[in-house]
Amino acid sequence: MEMVCRACGGNAGDTVLDLGEQPACDYFPPRGTPGPDPVYPLQMWLCSSCGLAQLMNDPTMPEEPKAAEPAALVAQAADAVRRVGAAGWLPPGTTVIEYGSPHGGSWLGLLADRGLVTTDGQTQADIVLDCFGLMHRADQQAALAERASRVSERGVMLLQYHSLATIIQHGQWNALRHGHFAYYSAPALVRMLAGVGFTPCAAWRFELYQGTFLLAAARAGRGRDGSVEALLAEESELGVQDPAVVMGLQEDASRSAAALRQWLSRQRAMGRTVLGYSAASRAVALLCSAGVAADLLPAVADASAAKQGCRMPGTDIPVISPAELLDFRPDAVVVFLTDLVDELRAVIPEVEAEGGTWVTMDHLVGSAR
Ligand SMILES: [Zn+2]
Repeated sequence: MEMVCRACGGNAGDTVLDLGEQPACDYFPPRGTPGPDPVYPLQMWLCSSCGLAQLMNDPTMPEEPKAAEPAALVAQAADAVRRVGAAGWLPPGTTVIEYGSPHGGSWLGLLADRGLVTTDGQTQADIVLDCFGLMHRADQQAALAERASRVSERGVMLLQYHSLATIIQHGQWNALRHGHFAYYSAPALVRMLAGVGFTPCAAWRFELYQGTFLLAAARAGRGRDGSVEALLAEESELGVQDPAVVMGLQEDASRSAAALRQWLSRQRAMGRTVLGYSAASRAVALLCSAGVAADLLPAVADASAAKQGCRMPGTDIPVISPAELLDFRPDAVVVFLTDLVDELRAVIPEVEAEGGTWVTMDHLVGSAR
């Protein structure tokens, strides 16, 4: 199949990560529904011309907004508004258009509290804000051009995104999922911005997903502070545009899948009860890649009521509530999203109080090395 880059239209590039056939990660069938579930190819492609890492093809349906807004996204919005505001980018009275994410994390309430004005339905605003929205657009060039066209003459575009550099550094191969069309490195994003006449002025780093970034960009002419140069230099050194470097994700994928499978098999052999926590998309790709079924992992708990009573896509593992998790009296719970561990310790202290342990994938992969 010939690829056409979603940002620059180029045809040359490399498949840097191939997860084979995977179920749609937001397809949670009711528990009794027999498999096999429909599967689709899931691959990441790196454009040689502009350096954008992207989803190769996506035959699945666009994702619907979820009822539950993750606490981590709410906290991220508050943190970002505080820091970007402290740097003087959010003056009261400024008009704002927001392109949000279907996963939540809107800034609008927080910006209204600071005296900014949402310009619903207006063509342009002083601030055009994109919180993890852009990656959901299949046509990256058109989506960025639309956002740029809505920035007033002296206005600014704020783009918040999970970074390819983070994905590489932390081996987050399972960030690749259907519905997420682009995985931005700073150099690729800066090139995309240049294509619509914008240049980055400032950059901020956040801990969300172990490395989330926010770029402020304006039409050419505005000054650029050292944060942008530092970010570009750091990512170039990491090799974010080098296919050989990005292809390291393939090895990370094999290593994680093998580590999980071997560890679960050992636990079962010792007669220990192990459950999973989080039915997020990352868990779907991991469990499917590892070929883990309910004989090794009898259940995955998740706080989302919509997923409870269903099973994980592509396997027979049921999704249960956190309360049901305690009924199993697990010896260990594997947490598929490292960000969640501190919150879980506080919210479900019974796991540790009854002798169980929380185990992260980072720990399993690290100790299997
Ligand atoms: Zn390209």
